[in-house]
Amino acid sequence: MANWQRTHTCGELREQHVGKGVVLNGWVNTYRNQGGLVFIDLRDRYGITQVVFASDKPELLKGAQELRSEFVLAIHGTVAHRLPGKENEDLATGKIEVQAEKLTILNRCPTPPFEVTAFAEQELANEDLRLQYRFLDLRRNTLQRTLMMRHKMNKVIRDHLDSQGFLELETPLLGRSTPEGARDYLVPSRIFPKQWYALPQSPQIYKQLLMVAGYDKYFQIAHCLRDEDLRADRQPEFTQLDLEMSFVEMDDVFAVIESLIAEVFRKCLEVEIPLPFPRLHYPEAMLRYGNDKPDLRFGLEIADLCDLAEQTDFQVFRITLENGGKVRGLNATAAADKFSRKGLDELAEHVKRSGAKGLAWIKVEAEKFTSPIEKFLPQPVQQALRERLAAKPGDLLLIVADKEDIVCQALGNLRLHLAGALKLIDPDKLDYRIAWVIDFPSFIRDEEEKRWAANHHPFTAPMDEDLAKLESDPGSIRAKAYDMVINGYEIGGGSIRIHNPEVQSRVFAVLGMTPEQARQRFGFLLDALKYGAPPHGGIALGLDRLTMMLARTGNIRDVIAFPKNQKARDLMTGAPAPVDAKQLKELGL
Ligand code: ASP
Repeated sequence: MANWQRTHTCGELREQHVGKGVVLNGWVNTYRNQGGLVFIDLRDRYGITQVVFASDKPELLKGAQELRSEFVLAIHGTVAHRLPGKENEDLATGKIEVQAEKLTILNRCPTPPFEVTAFAEQELANEDLRLQYRFLDLRRNTLQRTLMMRHKMNKVIRDHLDSQGFLELETPLLGRSTPEGARDYLVPSRIFPKQWYALPQSPQIYKQLLMVAGYDKYFQIAHCLRDEDLRADRQPEFTQLDLEMSFVEMDDVFAVIESLIAEVFRKCLEVEIPLPFPRLHYPEAMLRYGNDKPDLRFGLEIADLCDLAEQTDFQVFRITLENGGKVRGLNATAAADKFSRKGLDELAEHVKRSGAKGLAWIKVEAEKFTSPIEKFLPQPVQQALRERLAAKPGDLLLIVADKEDIVCQALGNLRLHLAGALKLIDPDKLDYRIAWVIDFPSFIRDEEEKRWAANHHPFTAPMDEDLAKLESDPGSIRAKAYDMVINGYEIGGGSIRIHNPEVQSRVFAVLGMTPEQARQRFGFLLDALKYGAPPHGGIALGLDRLTMMLARTGNIRDVIAFPKNQKARDLMTGAPAPVDAKQLKELGL
């Protein structure tokens, strides 16, 4: 060991080490010059240790006075108790300090473009600047903790799946494009000019081929790439736990994932997740929560009010129903006095942003309703509304009448907005509500292109009992597909796959492919399905989003060491960037 190398990390020393000679290596987190004394907080990823330079060693003190933020040091010294009253309860090493005997500057650092030590969110420098100097930003304690959490999650996943007999197998990055509904990133071939590889949107087809090949329990922590416009919780490249099993039904996949997720939360957060996860049927999720990724941490459930609306004299309700629309509402419990006229107008603006024409409100009192539509609601309807929405005096009932998808979206978003406004979610509570959403429709109508599109992907098996109507009524076909939802986020999705080549060909046909097109694009899959494909199914879990849950951040860039910014640019390396003309020529471009 060279004599500057550490004997301990900066998070390791405790009172039991008092009197010991040690060497620490790390970065200057903060320095305080108090005339006769210099205090350095020395930092590494394990923690922070206070180092003191005292006036009885004038040469050393002089050296210490030159230290600045982010210098890299080796400190030889002796562990000592801190003076009484100077202990720091917030620091694991807060009872001790190291009295420096020798200082070696391993490297210097110019004044950093921002303060690495900022802890509070509001003190953080502009994110673009931090992404440009990501190597500095990554020194921040919160990011280091998050990436360590991510490591731990990956390890729990690998250990758990290994113990269940799964094989971790890798699939290619350069391949043929798999349709997952997004745009591909394409890579030109040098050897075959004008021909292209696609980077994987997911390993979907490869993992199915592994099932055909007999590797009945597969997983992979897979990089996937989709050239999409970015939203707050999306990145062009992301990581998913990709998993596939043979000879299984939906319940078998659920059992594997439930025990895995429980293990991840237990090992990473010491949180016990109750099993099994509840299952919500897609139509029920849309009705009660307005979307297929419900946040179940709070109530505010939506109820259908069409039958009651029909018995009112309110024209808006009646016309909506005559046009095939829906009338639905929710009870913002005890919120009647929380919204003034202006507050109610703001709620109305909120539903209008989801496309709804308006919002009807009712303040519930013991004997009567206060509401602009009260006069249109006959007494029995008022009574029935109270019962349907479990309304008590002081509650605020909010009702939307519109086309069904607009009602879902408006009330679904309103529900989330109210949860925030009424502070129904405690940000400090480790509350994770996990559910499966099942019974999705297989196909959705693309009205612009006048054709059916796969709701999940084209390899998802339709329900056996729906197969007969595949061609005659595609809109009514339900898929053997499922999503896993945590606190309002879709964390994963998967399905039981089609393993019969005829059914696969029929599905391609519903999606508008001629047999020749299907053969040209997916001939290898259709062939594989012919050569003894076992029944199989699987799932993919978004590991970036799962880490966001565990680390309790809403920013996906916090969980990725080197993320792109919101315009898909790597601000540190400058990618994407032009390349040499020679490179382009070689590629025939
Ligand atoms: N391939 C799907 C996806 O990446 C997941 C699956 O069906 O297993 O979303």
